[in-house]
Amino acid sequence: MQKIRKKITVQGQVQGIGFRPFVYKLAAELNLTGFVYNYTQGVIIEVQGRKAGVEKFINKLKNAHKEKPLLKITTLDFSDIEPVSGEKTFEIKQSESDGIVSAEVTADIATCKDCLAEMFDKKDFRYRYPFINCTNCGPRYSIIKSIPYDRPNTTMSVFLMCDKCKGQYGNVKDRRFHAQPIACPVCGPKIKLCDNKGQEIESDSHKVISKTAQLLLEGKIVAIKGLGGFHLACDAENEQAVKTLRSRKMRDAKPFAMMAADIEKIKQFTIVDKKAEEILQSIQSPIVLLPKKEPNTIAPSVAAEVNTFGFMLPYTPLHHLIFAEKKLNALVMTSGNIADEPLICRDDEALEKLGNIADVFLMHDRIIYRQVDDSIIHIIKNEPVLLRRSRGFVPQAFVSKNSASADIFAAGADLKNTFCFVKKNRYIVSEHIGDMADASVYKHWLNSIEHLKKLLEVQPSIVACDMHPNYLSSQYARKLKKDRLIEVQHHWAHIASVLAEHNIDKKVIGLVADGTGYGIDGTIWGCECLIASLDDFQRFGHLSYYPLAGGDSAAKEAIRPVIGLMKKYNLSVPDAVLDEIEPDREKRFAIAEQIEKNINTIKTSSLGRLFDAVSALCGLGGRNNFEAQLPMALEAIADKRTTECYPFALKRENGIIMVEIGDMLKAIAADRIGKVGKTVISAKFHNTIAAFFLALARQGRDKTGINTAAISGGVFCNRFLSERLIELLQNDGFEVLFNRLVPANDGGISLGQAAIAAKITGKG
Ligand SMILES: [Zn+2]
Ligand SMILES: [Zn+2]
Ligand SMILES: [Zn+2]
Repeated sequence: MQKIRKKITVQGQVQGIGFRPFVYKLAAELNLTGFVYNYTQGVIIEVQGRKAGVEKFINKLKNAHKEKPLLKITTLDFSDIEPVSGEKTFEIKQSESDGIVSAEVTADIATCKDCLAEMFDKKDFRYRYPFINCTNCGPRYSIIKSIPYDRPNTTMSVFLMCDKCKGQYGNVKDRRFHAQPIACPVCGPKIKLCDNKGQEIESDSHKVISKTAQLLLEGKIVAIKGLGGFHLACDAENEQAVKTLRSRKMRDAKPFAMMAADIEKIKQFTIVDKKAEEILQSIQSPIVLLPKKEPNTIAPSVAAEVNTFGFMLPYTPLHHLIFAEKKLNALVMTSGNIADEPLICRDDEALEKLGNIADVFLMHDRIIYRQVDDSIIHIIKNEPVLLRRSRGFVPQAFVSKNSASADIFAAGADLKNTFCFVKKNRYIVSEHIGDMADASVYKHWLNSIEHLKKLLEVQPSIVACDMHPNYLSSQYARKLKKDRLIEVQHHWAHIASVLAEHNIDKKVIGLVADGTGYGIDGTIWGCECLIASLDDFQRFGHLSYYPLAGGDSAAKEAIRPVIGLMKKYNLSVPDAVLDEIEPDREKRFAIAEQIEKNINTIKTSSLGRLFDAVSALCGLGGRNNFEAQLPMALEAIADKRTTECYPFALKRENGIIMVEIGDMLKAIAADRIGKVGKTVISAKFHNTIAAFFLALARQGRDKTGINTAAISGGVFCNRFLSERLIELLQNDGFEVLFNRLVPANDGGISLGQAAIAAKITGKG
């Protein structure tokens, strides 16, 4: 009987998801011999048997993703080799750990249905065990120290498997075959409840959970150690508890994220369409921003001033167990950190820093190696769009048709930082890191870079960063002194991030709606129309510059852009309205004088600050206590039925189109005094922004013949504006590209920088 043997190389997301056991089972079913092993770039299989069997084997491999949802095969190569005589079995061999590492580490995945069923089965030996997992679910990225993804390389290495677990781990027919974080009540991690000094209150697993649920119900605040870090939790329907959490966390108004017991509960509080339901229940289990249902029983101070609630479903066994006590409908689950510091993942740090916030601590002894925040998604035009890309998504690579000529490090931006490594055609964007202004975030950033660099074994010789002279990320990048340093204009990077995630390499009309970014003329850009590709860009048009006084405080105090715009457009606003924005008249006078004398005043085309100004003029307050507080409040009140807009003008200056908004601002001021409802003013303002972007895009198309518009920038996190503009552009015949897989805000900048760097240093 003639036998053939093939060597098969599989690359992609193939490790840590039970692929080798899958291969093993397949080979056994088809009576094939040979072996499979993880190597640093994926999986290698040698398989031997009758021709028909081997062919069937390869065919099944190609369709394996239908059975293994986490599997993503990017390449599958095979070649004939000499058959081996005397081979009797198919084996899983020891992993190889030398060479280049680019096999993909997978993301942390929400508890699967099979594990849940076992966990609530009284007869199962993992009944109510808070760390149940299998090859289809559980921790991955948050526990991996290095790859290949095998138990000794994870923080599970300290737990010695008991015989039962060992049996499952080694049994090819078991769904935990080679599940690296496998554990049970006998051999695995354990939970305990401590007071805020770290003194153990309870260690019996069942009692810990019932007591936690009880304390939450009583209005206590519990720090819960999760998958990627600590959460601060309290009963979301208890106003007193939420208020206490706010005051202890010193967080004024920023909306809290919540976790609900089940999808039905989320539907009681919000409007959940089919798409949203699908995303909430996805294996990534992100926070989804959903329109509030009124009235609802959520405590008012969970998310005042906005029209959405951020909800997620339980995604670890521990979460499921807490809700299974049937006492709680929804919990506030906010990141366990202080102000803008990184998420806390170590027990000692949690006690030290959260000891004044939480009444009790629900801890466990599985070490979180990498902190990963919850990811946040909202829905634009029926598409899930990431606002924060972390747990469940990182470190999944973007596979590009543009390969890098050498490894690349892209530093990202200083706000909402992520960084990116490129190895060949793989672009790996880090988890959300945070705002660099905080020293501990900067330190965390440096550590994260080192960790990911080691994990992916990249040796960057090309470095990309923002061209901002003072960004800490850029200063660090410049100091690296690698072969090539590419400084990328901020808004070009925004547009490139859209091109990169869509894997498109062509010239587009880029429309950027952003807060601030350093421009090539040394001013602060923000509202831009760029004719851009990955090679190059040209500034085609922008919001006419207006003066903005006072560095960092300009993004907090709306009076600053208000006065800047009043000066620019000779706008008169009644004192009564200005008093609402900034009651201190002397301060107003000082700001005006500062602008006149051009002291600490910049020229800007920032759209974010224009939103601040208009929100303030509408009487929504004078201060952003957290980022985009005013613009979010403005969006929340916009009357969706209003389709009119305010007047604006396009003027050409030195070949660049300027958007002049003096008439709009005068009309807004008049409407405000004329008692036109804020909801209508807000909608008309949003519509005007969309209208002038369309006008810019049309002129760009007339000039260049390009019919694809790419939109990006932090202001497009505004759903109302995004959807209006996308609609206008599509109705006008444009192909519209927008960010979905990386945020439109500065969280997407590193991918854009990396794509540009790869393109301009590439060999063709
Ligand atoms: Zn599972
Ligand atoms: Zn065990
Ligand atoms: Zn930006």
